[in-house]
Amino acid sequence: MDAGANASAATAAEPHCRPATGAVGPDRGGGGLTIRHRLFLLVVACTAPMLLLSFAIIWQLAHRERETSRQAITYASRSIVSAVDAQFRHYIAVGQALAISPSLQTGDLAAFRAEAERAMTVVPGGWLTLADTTGQQLVNTLIPAGEPLPRLAPAVAEDGRRAFASKTVKIADVVFGPVAKAPVTGIGVPVFRGGEPAYYLLVGVPAASFRALLNDGRMPEGWLVAVIDSRGNLVARSRDHDRLVGQPAAAGWRAAMHRDGLIETETLEGRPVLTANTVSPLTGWAVGVASERALLEARVWRTLAVAGLASVMVSVASGLLAAWIARRITVPIQALETGAGLLERGERVRFGETRVPEIDRALHAFDAAAAELTAHERAVATLQSELWHVSRLSEMGQMAAALAHELNQPLTALAVYVGGCERLMKADPFDDARREQMRNLLKAISDQALRAGEIIKQLRSFVQKGEGERRVESAGKVMREAARLAMTAAKHKDVTFRCNVDDTASILVNKVQIQQVVFNLIRNAIEAMETSARREIDVTVVVGDGQVETSIADTGCGLAPEIAARLFMPFASTKTHGMGIGLSVCRDIIEAHRGRIWADSIPDGGTVFRFTLPVVSSDPADDSEPTET
Ligand code: ADP
Repeated sequence: MDAGANASAATAAEPHCRPATGAVGPDRGGGGLTIRHRLFLLVVACTAPMLLLSFAIIWQLAHRERETSRQAITYASRSIVSAVDAQFRHYIAVGQALAISPSLQTGDLAAFRAEAERAMTVVPGGWLTLADTTGQQLVNTLIPAGEPLPRLAPAVAEDGRRAFASKTVKIADVVFGPVAKAPVTGIGVPVFRGGEPAYYLLVGVPAASFRALLNDGRMPEGWLVAVIDSRGNLVARSRDHDRLVGQPAAAGWRAAMHRDGLIETETLEGRPVLTANTVSPLTGWAVGVASERALLEARVWRTLAVAGLASVMVSVASGLLAAWIARRITVPIQALETGAGLLERGERVRFGETRVPEIDRALHAFDAAAAELTAHERAVATLQSELWHVSRLSEMGQMAAALAHELNQPLTALAVYVGGCERLMKADPFDDARREQMRNLLKAISDQALRAGEIIKQLRSFVQKGEGERRVESAGKVMREAARLAMTAAKHKDVTFRCNVDDTASILVNKVQIQQVVFNLIRNAIEAMETSARREIDVTVVVGDGQVETSIADTGCGLAPEIAARLFMPFASTKTHGMGIGLSVCRDIIEAHRGRIWADSIPDGGTVFRFTLPVVSSDPADDSEPTET
């Protein structure tokens, strides 16, 4: 906290020393990121990978959700195909068993009918139709025996012909049964006798019997299940079965019905669905399990939304936490900064507990340092004011000692002469001779009184006592030291010091006396600025023309006109408690050193005092002090 008479020597290139009473600078932090920003970056650095990871997981979850739905409809479709096939295998087994019935081989149709009616009890809702190779029905368990029977429907008769040709069981696509009066299906078994086609045996079932296999009671919401025959007509449908059975399925599905897999189609109602299609190798029929795309996507989006919201909430919470922590850190730091500013102005600040151990320790350390510094500064201030006082006392002491010493002689003489006068006045007769003696004594008294006055005038010569102690000194060093002493003394007076010292010359001086001059001039300058708004002092030392010129300029009240002419006379003062000795002593000291001292008014306000001293050498007399800060 040294007010720093900045001794940047050499050139006059340093216009500004550090101010004696520095205010807290507006931007001490320089560039760089604040703690708040750094913590924010930390949060971003921590949460960004976490967010990315959570988004990857969320995406994976959504993908799985989608896959699970796809698998679910695929499995459902496969299991329903298995159930349909199992039902058909049952019909085929019954049909094949009847096809090899002995009564059929012998042509005993009455016996065969009885056998068929028994067999049909294991085919729920089923019936048996037996036709000859022309398509004429011979037995129909739906129509009582003896009643006339119709011919087979042309499509069924065509199936029969193909069955005879291929000698395989034929799966009947859905048709409207004229006898059952409902959409029907079934299996057709060609019966040969002696290797020749004899009968076409049909196990018929209503299409509705496949409806129960769709399991739609336990289907998830938004699912639609349907079975279509090899021509793409609906055999069973979980929704609107009665209205749509036998009708062609949706075109999109029919186009892809011969291969297994997932297809994006529309239902007959026009709703977009994802359909898992499974083709039965036994019947050539297909089972489609469709899930509404809107519902499917809704589930995925719900998962995305919940997980995304959770991630965002975690990020926001981390951000808020970071902001809170940053505040817990920055507030005490700001308090420290404020405390430092106050301390510079000589005030103290008390810090509260932050409950952050490191910060509390720092605050306590600062507090302790501040307490010590304040105590130290108080001690220094006391010392300075004592120094100030002592300098005044020393002037007075010097004067008093000189007065006592010099006045002693004339006063003693005065007392002796006055005694002589008394004695002469008592003498009788008081003749001319005594009158003459009396005149001589009064003349001597007058002379001694004049001498006493002369002594007071010549008091300034006392300072020449130090002449014998002169040494060659660095002009810069002498002035710097003196300036620093005065500035330190004026530390709390809110004065800005600038100094510009040429350190290249040496002078032969009594250092203490020259420093007393500088000290006096700076002290006067500070006192002259007491009521000034702007308080600045410029100390300049320049070398030239075989002389070192030192100037001390202030921004004070300026020279009072009534004193300007007798500024350097003893007892010339405008101050209430001033003695008017300082400047006269300064002049005596400077003149005793073969120099000159004078003062000028500064047009903008203020005064500049200058004094010169002869240079003894242009080389630096000694080492320059390092620059003070
Ligand atoms: P004192 O300080 O005791 O008055 P000085 O001899 O030091 O005695 O100063 C004499 C007078 O010169 C001061 O009273 C003041 O009026 C005037 N003076 C001295 N220095 C300055 C200055 N820097 N600015 C204005 N007036 C000054």
